[in-house]
Amino acid sequence: MSIGKVSLIGAGPGEPGLLTLKGRDCLAQADVIVYDYLANPVLLGHGRSDAEQIYVGKNRGCHSLPQDDINQLLAAKARAGLRVARLKGGDPYVFGRGGEEAAFLHEQGIPFEVVPGVTAGFAAAAYAGIPLTHRDVTTSLALLTGHERPERKLSSLDWQTLATGIGTLIFYMGMTNLETICAQLMAHGRPATTPVAVIQWATLPRQKTLTAPLAEIAARVVAAGIEPPAVIIIGEVVGYREELRWYDNLPLFGKRFLITRPREQAQYFVDLLQGQGAETICIPTIEIAPPESWQDLDQALEELNRYQGVILTSANGVSAFFERMRTKNLDLRALAGVEIIAVGPKTAQSIAAYGLKPDLIPADYRAEGVLTALLARGVEGQRFLYPRTEIARDVLRVSLTAAGAQVDAPVVYRTIAPQNKTDMIRHLLAEKELDAICFSSSSTFENFSAMLGAELKHLQGRAAFFSIGPLTSKTIRQHGFKVALEPQSSTLDDLVAAMVDYYTTS
Ligand code: SAH
Repeated sequence: MSIGKVSLIGAGPGEPGLLTLKGRDCLAQADVIVYDYLANPVLLGHGRSDAEQIYVGKNRGCHSLPQDDINQLLAAKARAGLRVARLKGGDPYVFGRGGEEAAFLHEQGIPFEVVPGVTAGFAAAAYAGIPLTHRDVTTSLALLTGHERPERKLSSLDWQTLATGIGTLIFYMGMTNLETICAQLMAHGRPATTPVAVIQWATLPRQKTLTAPLAEIAARVVAAGIEPPAVIIIGEVVGYREELRWYDNLPLFGKRFLITRPREQAQYFVDLLQGQGAETICIPTIEIAPPESWQDLDQALEELNRYQGVILTSANGVSAFFERMRTKNLDLRALAGVEIIAVGPKTAQSIAAYGLKPDLIPADYRAEGVLTALLARGVEGQRFLYPRTEIARDVLRVSLTAAGAQVDAPVVYRTIAPQNKTDMIRHLLAEKELDAICFSSSSTFENFSAMLGAELKHLQGRAAFFSIGPLTSKTIRQHGFKVALEPQSSTLDDLVAAMVDYYTTS
């Protein structure tokens, strides 16, 4: 059997987007992923679903797997012919014992590579608004550990040089020794007024940043209860933060939202919310499933040219429709001369991904909007294809038919309640405070409510319910709950804009 290979990969500081492309590719190829406490577990999602995942980090305050055991594990897996991704927080070669792992693999004759990562100190500086070097105040920078091996005392650092010879200092693992670090620097000539920033959980929505002069920071950190993991940045550059901070003053920074949309459609919403600084937790309360039978759609696909138009009202409908066309060996030419009607811009975007431009998008992005637009120009004697979900409201079909049109409305997807999610939601609610729960359709709410039962009543006191539009709101109210927010028009962009308004003006 040929020997495998170990990739020592820097996972970056926490925010999943800060992994390198090469790191992502290595994860995607790995047979085994060995990961640490500080590597964001979300990154495991880049791995293959059949990859083995081994956690070697600290467990609720206990110790991590001893380094020797980790070394042996990496070597054993590689010897078994496997590709091993060793995912380490930040950069593997910055205070991460990556050097020891690489040296061991080298000794054992096991091939390895190192994929650098964004180290916590650099990321913390960027996300706190601190340029680490700046021509006006400093040209030098040092990375230090504030937690030396027990046999070497902190005093082994060259305090004289650190105090007066280097502009910016970044201490990793320095929280327990913060007082000593500050005292030593001042004793060796750093002015007591030098600004210091302590940044905890950098790049994540729970990031906390505290700034104070060198003489006061240790006491302030204790008072604020800031604990590891945190980096300490010392130097005049910290003064730029007030001007350059951009992350922790985003409008939704520090807010935590539960997103209940199906996984396939959550990403866009998550990106919008994270772009405003929010923390998002996704537990889909609906899943998309194929229809019981394709018969109705298949029949329509055979005679597409007999339709005046195809009405598409959701991204799911769009993908089900076009994928089915593909399965049936049809391409876009089968739609030549058929009008494409999209309920709104998001649906239009999904249609565009299949290479078509809708002929009609109503001003009001709802079924009613489509209806008004079609009725305004007359539909008598026309035939429409309206691929939809099982539980779609029938308003379009009924009203168009009443106006003399023929409407075929085959079911092209179903939404089903996911199994085994109830425990996950209960666990989440017990562990974390949520600011709000976002519902983007009636069924996301109905399933959520069915999962939680009577507990939902208690929840409303703790977290607001946000709704995408009037129909979802109606469902929520019918169940006896309050809707804290509903945007003017039913799009995710408007929902996020309304959320920003809600928190910045209230
Ligand atoms: N190899 C890692 C450092 C590991 S040492 C890197 O390059 O970032 C662990 C220390 O890193 C922690 O004690 C803390 O000082 C720092 N650290 C790691 N992630 C951090 C984060 N998200 N925010 C603040 N500090 C972090």
